[in-house]
Amino acid sequence: MSKDNVRVRFAPSPTGPLHMGGVRTALYNYLFAKNNNGTFILRIEDTDQTRFVEGAQDYIINAFNWCGITPDEGPGIGGAYGPYIQSERKDIYQEYAQKLINSEKAYYAFDTAEELTKMRDEAKKMGMPNWQYNGVSRLSMRNSLTLPKSEVDELIASQTPYVIRMKMPRNEDVRFEDEIRGWVVVNTNNLDDKVLFKSDGMPTYHLANIVDDHMMKISHVIRGEEWLPSAPLHVLLYDALGWDRPKFAHLPLLLRPDGNGKLSKRDGDRLGFPVFPLDWLTKDNELFSGYKEKGYFPEAFINMLAFLGWNPGTQQELFSLEELSDAFGLDRVSKGGAKFDPEKTKWFQQQYIRSSSADSLADMLKDSFPENLGHQERITICELMKERATFAADIIKDGAYLIQKPKGYDQKVISKKWKAQTPLLVQEWQNIIEGIDEFSASNIEAKFKSFLEEKSLGFGAVLLPFRLLVTGVGAGPGMFDIAAFLGKEEVLNRISTGLIEVEKIKNEA
Ligand code: GLU
Repeated sequence: MSKDNVRVRFAPSPTGPLHMGGVRTALYNYLFAKNNNGTFILRIEDTDQTRFVEGAQDYIINAFNWCGITPDEGPGIGGAYGPYIQSERKDIYQEYAQKLINSEKAYYAFDTAEELTKMRDEAKKMGMPNWQYNGVSRLSMRNSLTLPKSEVDELIASQTPYVIRMKMPRNEDVRFEDEIRGWVVVNTNNLDDKVLFKSDGMPTYHLANIVDDHMMKISHVIRGEEWLPSAPLHVLLYDALGWDRPKFAHLPLLLRPDGNGKLSKRDGDRLGFPVFPLDWLTKDNELFSGYKEKGYFPEAFINMLAFLGWNPGTQQELFSLEELSDAFGLDRVSKGGAKFDPEKTKWFQQQYIRSSSADSLADMLKDSFPENLGHQERITICELMKERATFAADIIKDGAYLIQKPKGYDQKVISKKWKAQTPLLVQEWQNIIEGIDEFSASNIEAKFKSFLEEKSLGFGAVLLPFRLLVTGVGAGPGMFDIAAFLGKEEVLNRISTGLIEVEKIKNEA
């Protein structure tokens, strides 16, 4: 296959918001397409109308836009193989169901829901909890294999509801080579007669999926491991229709950080991290939080997701979307489940905030800064705070002292570092500050050092109290940078106020 013929699709069912596992599947499809100069398609699989959730399709598209993984073909985008929403392709599928009937690969089944339930209940009583419609049981059911042809014709003519089922062959080995897992072999005795076409005139997922993959010229089906059990049926359907099979690649599951279970949509908020790309508010007003709204950058989210089941084979961890597209290949996707690690996710975000320019951060925060703060001041605040921030909002939250006087003084620092001689030393340092003409970080630092030398003091003895009085806390960016940013007047002021306040706190304790 020439590289240019690579066509892959992400085919979600709009049954709710897209979980991060779904985004990872979409991302791998996108990266594989880009790596092979191919086409990435979005197809909405909405044949199960009972599970349709309003807003889910828009959510998927919004999530893709945020992540920057725009499909080349899809609903609202267009392409030569549309429509890309299965409910709009309804009329296409019947023909193929009919073809399968004609070639005796499928059959009509007239069993009512009650009859099926009865069968299941009886089987349960006889110690068979998982009754299946299959090569054995089909012989005692009401279908076109057991009923005389005249009766079948009559039932169809009188519009008796029916489904079309796959006539699963007996005792055949179905084989296919999965791009990630290698050879997969399943005996058809372990497979049931899946419904391909429903009584509501809609195909099931299985039929619509393979018809569309064929018609849309999909070269590689890259999807989650949960679809592996369906693959043998799909392979048989391609064969039954005389079509070439696409290549298959089943991606490893995403596992919970606290165990081996599958990461589920409820884990996130329960364990304190998002599981969805964007916020999702259910009809009952239940909020599932999203990475975007929590303050993650899409670049960090994508980078983290790419590493959940894939690695580049080198030490490099930070990849832009473009770099990922260049490096990605299915050969480096792991078979085993990928454990989600919220701490590593934060780490990725920290790397991205650190490498962001102060300019772009100031722009991101433009609505959060007080209006009277000048452009240059905003940029300096971002420059000073970004090294210690995880999210952009931390810059303003943790750097509030760069905008206004401290609202309090860290009790722990006071009890640990505030000694009897501290106020006097600080006052001496304050006098020196008063004499500094050019109030730059380097000048302040030089003066500070010679003051310490003169007094034979260690760095911490005055620096920490100085920081406490000016910022209210015990840690932060370079103290001389902070002082230079605030200016001499403000620093002197804060020291004076701070000395009174801290002494008060000290005396109260
Ligand atoms: N509609 C299926 C889903 O919701 C698609 C599975 C596949 O990619 O074949 O995930």
